[in-house]
Amino acid sequence: MGEEKILQNALPSDPVSILGSLGSVQVKDGTLRMLKTRAEVKAKSETLDVYALAVPAQYSSRILNTVRAVVPDLNTIDIQHIKRVAKYDFLTIHVLNKFSMASGYSDANGNQFDTLENIRYIVVCPVSSITEGILSNALSSQPPFSDSGFPLVLVTLPVPAYAPTSSEQADEWSVQYWPISYKNTNPYGPHPSMVLHNEAEIVKSSGAALTLAECVANEAYENGSSLPIGCVIVDRTDKVEKVVAIAADARWQSQGSKEGAGNVMVHAVQRAISLVAQKRLRAEQLKQDALHSKHGSLSQEQPSCSKNSSVFLDYPIGDIERRVHSLDNIAAGGYLCTDLDIYITHEPCVMCSMAILHSRFRRIVFQRRMPLTGGMIADSGLKYGIFWRPAELNWKMLAWIWEPIEVEDNSLDIADQFHV
Ligand SMILES: [Zn+2]
Repeated sequence: MGEEKILQNALPSDPVSILGSLGSVQVKDGTLRMLKTRAEVKAKSETLDVYALAVPAQYSSRILNTVRAVVPDLNTIDIQHIKRVAKYDFLTIHVLNKFSMASGYSDANGNQFDTLENIRYIVVCPVSSITEGILSNALSSQPPFSDSGFPLVLVTLPVPAYAPTSSEQADEWSVQYWPISYKNTNPYGPHPSMVLHNEAEIVKSSGAALTLAECVANEAYENGSSLPIGCVIVDRTDKVEKVVAIAADARWQSQGSKEGAGNVMVHAVQRAISLVAQKRLRAEQLKQDALHSKHGSLSQEQPSCSKNSSVFLDYPIGDIERRVHSLDNIAAGGYLCTDLDIYITHEPCVMCSMAILHSRFRRIVFQRRMPLTGGMIADSGLKYGIFWRPAELNWKMLAWIWEPIEVEDNSLDIADQFHV
């Protein structure tokens, strides 16, 4: 028995090998797209009103110094992502039009003050920092407004309240609002370099893992007791990629008819997590067995790992599930799913999303959005964004949606009234 278990440990159990053992199944090809965190979505939608003005270039520093003097808390306001001084050719026409001087700067007699190329447009400060009257008085006492009669036109503009989280977002905002700078960082989610590093680790086999999830989903669906939803859990913690659990939805298994929501405790995610727990217990028992055998102690009757439950269906029920469950390829101990990766055919429901978060998974990848029930996506549907919550939930799980390169058949598209 012991030798057999050791041999099973040596079997390759990466997603591609498991798929290979199931026969000729074509592996999906696609791309990973990191989900926006809830904080990112919030940051994206908020704007801040600022004062802006136009001035000949040689007066830019003087004006900024005057503003610093009259708005003492300016340095504490985080508007560093906004380019304070911009040339006209970096502004869009709808912004230039607000200054009523888009075509040039001249006085009432038609005398040209300056060429447009030499004019600078300045974001002065947030509107909330100072009243327009006080600001206007302070500025109009300074050249060029005080002596040359250069018109002081204070314009109020909306600008993004928070820094952009990608260069694409900075470009988009620069067209929509005002020139914005991007500092290759993301204060509202994982740092871009962390995302790249993690994607490099998982991108190669994510298609195979999701194909495997579809295989188990189809197997269970054909058996008639579930929706076509599948889940695969992968362990990459020791650099060898191993599928440690695979489970299908089984919501109608015990009731015998496809009515209502069925048993919510046997959604694919809940069952897959239970199977990991079973395997960890079994690994612990094998460790104890090996220890007894090494010390020559008499084989003792070991306590049963656990009692399988017909409510939680925490045992393999299909051929694919059994195949993976028979492999002793996970370490004993460790907190449930710490640092494991989870792949699901569909966005998990809110309950399963919380189970994923609390089981301490490292990464989640799913393919199909579930706008009415899904708990992961933050910018549409229910908008919960239950991942990457370092402040509230002390966990930094990363989440991606998988987008297939080729248009797929829609056999796994299920009605959104069902919870996953
Ligand atoms: Zn669920």
